Amino acid sequence: MHADKREKNPQAAQDPLQRFFEGCTDCDICRFLMDESCLVFPEIYRRYDEALTKKQSLRADALRDVTDRCTLCGLCPCPDVRANVIQAKAARVQDEGIKPGARVLSDLQTFGRLGRIAPKALNALFSLPVVRRLFQKFFELHPQRTLPPLAAENFFSWAARRGLDRKPPAQAGTRRIAYFSGCTAAYLFPEVARAVTAVFQRFGLAVYVPPQECCGMPTVVEGDMARSLRRIRANMERLLGLAGEGFDIVCSCPTCGYFMKGILKENACLATGCTDSGRHGEASSPNYGASSLADDAFSALDPSERLRLADSVFDAGEYLARRLAEGGFPGPLRPLKGRWVYYAPCHQREQGIGTPYAKILRKIPGLQLELIGSSTDCCGMGGSLGYKKNFYDASMQLGASLIEKIRKAAPEAVVTDCLSCRLQFQHLLDLPVYHPMEVLAAALEG
Ligand code: SF4
Ligand code: SF4
Repeated sequence: MHADKREKNPQAAQDPLQRFFEGCTDCDICRFLMDESCLVFPEIYRRYDEALTKKQSLRADALRDVTDRCTLCGLCPCPDVRANVIQAKAARVQDEGIKPGARVLSDLQTFGRLGRIAPKALNALFSLPVVRRLFQKFFELHPQRTLPPLAAENFFSWAARRGLDRKPPAQAGTRRIAYFSGCTAAYLFPEVARAVTAVFQRFGLAVYVPPQECCGMPTVVEGDMARSLRRIRANMERLLGLAGEGFDIVCSCPTCGYFMKGILKENACLATGCTDSGRHGEASSPNYGASSLADDAFSALDPSERLRLADSVFDAGEYLARRLAEGGFPGPLRPLKGRWVYYAPCHQREQGIGTPYAKILRKIPGLQLELIGSSTDCCGMGGSLGYKKNFYDASMQLGASLIEKIRKAAPEAVVTDCLSCRLQFQHLLDLPVYHPMEVLAAALEG
């Protein structure tokens, strides 16, 4: 049915928003499926219904602003939606440029690297109310939000002091990990990346922290494709090289993991020039024209390398579960008391790896851990989108159901592997928030 539509309207095959709009208004499934967990679909259907009532036609380019509502959470059933939204965001940035707020919020890497010189001075400057107000005004940030401070010592500097920036030599019987920490852990929460390192070392794994760029997700969310592709290419080259040398590539950030394992892989096997014909069964089979995505926003990257990278990357929880299955814990677990909840973030769920952290943490004596959140719950932060003035209310709306569930459960702490969720929980809940690896590191201590 959709293919017929494209034949009648050749423009639809070229315009990603038109493809998205025509496909999803025709299908209609997400009118009901995604009415609470996404802000894009309700708005698309609202405008569509309004146009129908007024007997007006709705041109897709009038929907450009709707793409601002997409956080790339990954919850929608068809990957085409994400691919089309990414293309539409990129086209908009090409035409209109990127706003200063989007530029700053999507680039923690640059900010973190600049801050490495004098993080204390930078944090002191930003703690001045007048500077904060000016910053918020110029970059259109929401006044209720406070940007988290940069760590006094970022993870990369810490790792370099310990020689973890040098490749460990291959040794029979020892697995080597190339650890991809992600920018948020590196620059804002290095204690998380240090805990991941400590846990892996306790398991007898040789940890290497290679030079790394931002995974690309935050800049892709803002449509900044030129910057994204530069960074993705650099990571791809380095990580695939390391995988070729026998390193296991491990991510503790679910967003970096989902980006490399999911977003980059989606449609790769449809790309022009993909010779990996055996992978075609992995292509999404949406009901509106997968072939229209042969050249998605990542088509400048080698499609086979996209697929190989996806195959080479492990989520840290998934990786640890495998090591546990091989040989159990490296020592007794110290009991931890508490009635906590674990929230598996959207980008972790979308990796299709189950909930390895919940299974692992439940082995800690004394710890009562309840899983919280449904398969469509989202914290609403959307990476750094929740800091924007014009996204703050949307962020609250998206996260409302999950926050309510946590409040009702009344736990003593929240555990989640996503550091954006952590920022949202810290903003809305008066509870300690931990990464699962921090909890495990504490249980393995002593
Ligand atoms: S085409 Fe896919 S994403 Fe769009 S409404 Fe249907 S099921 Fe949802
Ligand atoms: S990726 Fe998430 S926010 Fe974007 S359209 Fe899909 S469900 Fe909505």
